[in-house]
Amino acid sequence: MRNSLKIKSGIFLAVLLIATVSFLGFLILRGIKNDQEKRQETYLREQSNIASVYVEQTILAESNGQVDWYEEEPIYQRLGPQIAMRLGTITGMHIFLYNDKGEKIGSSGFGSFDPKLVQFGLQNKIAYKTAGDMFYYVAPLKNGLLGAVGFVYSLQESNYFYHTILNLFLQFGIVVIILSFLISYFYFYPITNGILRLKEATEQIEQGKYITHPPLKRSDELGKLSQGVYSMSQQIEQNIITMKQEQAKLNMAVKKLKQLEKQQKVFIGNITHEFKTPLSVILAYMDLLEMYRDDPTLVDDARENIKKEAERLYHLVEKVLHLASVEKYDFEIQQEKIESSEILAELCERMRGKAQKFDVDLKCDLRQASVWMDKESFYLIFINLLDNAIKYNVQGGSILLTSEVKENTLNIKLQDTGIGIPLEAIDKIFEPFYTVNKDRAKSSGGTGLGLALVKQLVERQQGTIVFHSEHGHGTEVCLTFPLYDGK
Ligand code: ATP
Ligand code: MG
Repeated sequence: MRNSLKIKSGIFLAVLLIATVSFLGFLILRGIKNDQEKRQETYLREQSNIASVYVEQTILAESNGQVDWYEEEPIYQRLGPQIAMRLGTITGMHIFLYNDKGEKIGSSGFGSFDPKLVQFGLQNKIAYKTAGDMFYYVAPLKNGLLGAVGFVYSLQESNYFYHTILNLFLQFGIVVIILSFLISYFYFYPITNGILRLKEATEQIEQGKYITHPPLKRSDELGKLSQGVYSMSQQIEQNIITMKQEQAKLNMAVKKLKQLEKQQKVFIGNITHEFKTPLSVILAYMDLLEMYRDDPTLVDDARENIKKEAERLYHLVEKVLHLASVEKYDFEIQQEKIESSEILAELCERMRGKAQKFDVDLKCDLRQASVWMDKESFYLIFINLLDNAIKYNVQGGSILLTSEVKENTLNIKLQDTGIGIPLEAIDKIFEPFYTVNKDRAKSSGGTGLGLALVKQLVERQQGTIVFHSEHGHGTEVCLTFPLYDGK
């Protein structure tokens, strides 16, 4: 199979050349044969004319011109052997003379002619035949009235010439076969080899083994084909890589989507639970109030708890709405140049009341810096973080809010001396509804949504947020935001 093309091209070339040589040989040999026959005929016709004239002249000379060609001619009969011998000497051929009855009357050699041929001569026709290397030719004498003359012409020389040419062609044919294989080897081999290499290259590509260079380096059409195969291989490889990358991205997206779906289910479950709890407390108090309307202690208790649960519900609705709006409405973010130290100082003042309520000392040490971000988001981030630092602090504890500028970044640090976060919980605090201590969060009105919102807002502003904390040893929150670059 591998060599089929090479063998085929060799055979094709050999057949083509042999056919050409055979055809040429056939034409040439036929030409030679025809020419030889024509020459023989012309020569023998001339010789028969000479013989005819010689016979007539001899008879006329012997009879002193008194001869009647239609009568029995005894002179011819008598001089036959002599004339035949003389004609044999003149022509250099064996001559046979026949009378008008077809009887041999003289010859320059042995043997005789086919009587059928002689009969043709007597009927004033020329006849000839070939036997072996001899050519027998019969011509009429005096229109056959006198008889006929036969020539035996040797074909040895012309046959020798013909066979020499034939042998030459046969030898040439053998040379042509050898030559055709040599030509096909030296000329067709590189071509067929190139085609085989191209075939191998395409098979490799089919198996996904892409070629790193063109299989052939030629300047002809095969070279262009090789370049085309190489480009095609590169293109396919590139397409496959892109396809795989797209597939990987798609898989990631599907995975993320599934994760999101799962998170959403958990989120909805949590929301339902968080909404139900205060509502059921409120409904329970409503039932009790209907049953014991006149119990003043119950009325006071119910008012206080219903208010607390309603506030908790309000707080919850507000956070959920914030979170939902951050996730959905990108266009609501309106970035502007803001002075971070001014806003942070203002927020510290606003939160100081709550800090005092929790018996926590709040201090600020801020550097002036401008950032390009949404003001509302900036407020929400730090209100939530300060709220946590106060809520999860200890009595008599303290909070320190500092900011500094490093290169093109604004670094803000919020340290508190609170209860801290256990190591295993650090990664979970950004999950919606996650609280380290349910009771503590509940008692302080926490829903576990604050940090989920903070994280979303920080990331939307191209910022980062990291928590460092140790259980019982306070918490440090580090944030970075890109500085306003004047553009
Ligand atoms: P919300 O913010 O919705 O009112 P929350 O404050 O409990 O409720 P997050 O702000 O999301 O919720 O905080 C998640 C949890 O991380 C908190 O419940 C708390 O356990 C822990 N946490 C957050 N900040 C601190 C902190 N400064 N010190 C100790 N624990 C903290
Ligand atoms: Mg919070």
